[in-house]
Amino acid sequence: MCSGVLSVKVNRLATSIIFQSLVLSVVLSFFMSTALPARQIQIEGKSYIDLATVGKTFGMQAYWLQGNHTYRLRSQWTTIDVGKKNRVLYLNRLPIYLGFPTVESKGQLFITRADYQHVLQPILTPQVFKKRPGIRRVVIDAGHGGKDSGALNNTYGLMEKNLTLDVARRLKALLENSGFEVVMTRDSDVYIPLAQRPKVANRAKADLFVSLHFNAASSTSASGFESFALTPQYQASSKYPRPTSKDAKRYRGNEQDPWNTLITYHLERALVQGLGGPDRGIKRARWSVLKDLECPGVLTELGFISHAETAKKVRSPAFRQKLARSLFNGIVDYRKRLQRIQ
Ligand SMILES: [Zn+2]
Repeated sequence: MCSGVLSVKVNRLATSIIFQSLVLSVVLSFFMSTALPARQIQIEGKSYIDLATVGKTFGMQAYWLQGNHTYRLRSQWTTIDVGKKNRVLYLNRLPIYLGFPTVESKGQLFITRADYQHVLQPILTPQVFKKRPGIRRVVIDAGHGGKDSGALNNTYGLMEKNLTLDVARRLKALLENSGFEVVMTRDSDVYIPLAQRPKVANRAKADLFVSLHFNAASSTSASGFESFALTPQYQASSKYPRPTSKDAKRYRGNEQDPWNTLITYHLERALVQGLGGPDRGIKRARWSVLKDLECPGVLTELGFISHAETAKKVRSPAFRQKLARSLFNGIVDYRKRLQRIQ
């Protein structure tokens, strides 16, 4: 069929030799690109795709950096760096945890088809996915509450439950001023069981669920932001090295996999841009509040209150307003992205 099209075009343009050769070279390059075999390999039942082919599907250049330790995909706006046997890739320097480590074979670097579908496509070409969500009604989930104080820093008199509620109220005001509808899972110091929180979103027919938390760690040097999307089926959450039989379970929230990735990406990026990091990246976990959602959802950790510098900052209302403003910016970026593909 293509060669028929070619001969018609060539006849019609016979008067212009230059144009003829131009058409021919375009058609030839088309044949050459489609003739390239999709470089896929199977390892332990998983399908891998090489990053040069991945780059091509996104119109990105693909090459090894000097020393052949890091592979780069690059376009005008986006740079993706991936190391060998690595389970983290860097998209414009933002760390994103993959389901599986990369694999090198015969000088090529491969990622799993699952990571191509669950990480790269949702962020770079979300238009390939069906059932695009709306973005009008946002449920804000202030983590903890009542008898559940969450993380504590007694030196600075901080309780996670108070901080999350304060930032949630600030975010609510910003969103409502911008035409969003907001539902809070709690707007006072009350205890709400975890399983109840996604139910609030499902009952409200929410378009988006954002759960706010602060971290604490036994190491007082840990600091920075991290945002979690629900782990896709058959994958291990980021803190575990490899999947087990339990990871074969599919949750209702997995219907939203591409959009979970997209909102988590925009929220983490906006936090790091607004507050300067440190950026601990986009991770995966099967948090109770995310598993049964019927809308896209994200759980974000807004800093370690066990870290003295962070604790001093979050005591200040101005800093908490900045946190809310950055979350708001991330939600607006996500809304813009969805609107561009609708
Ligand atoms: Zn928490």
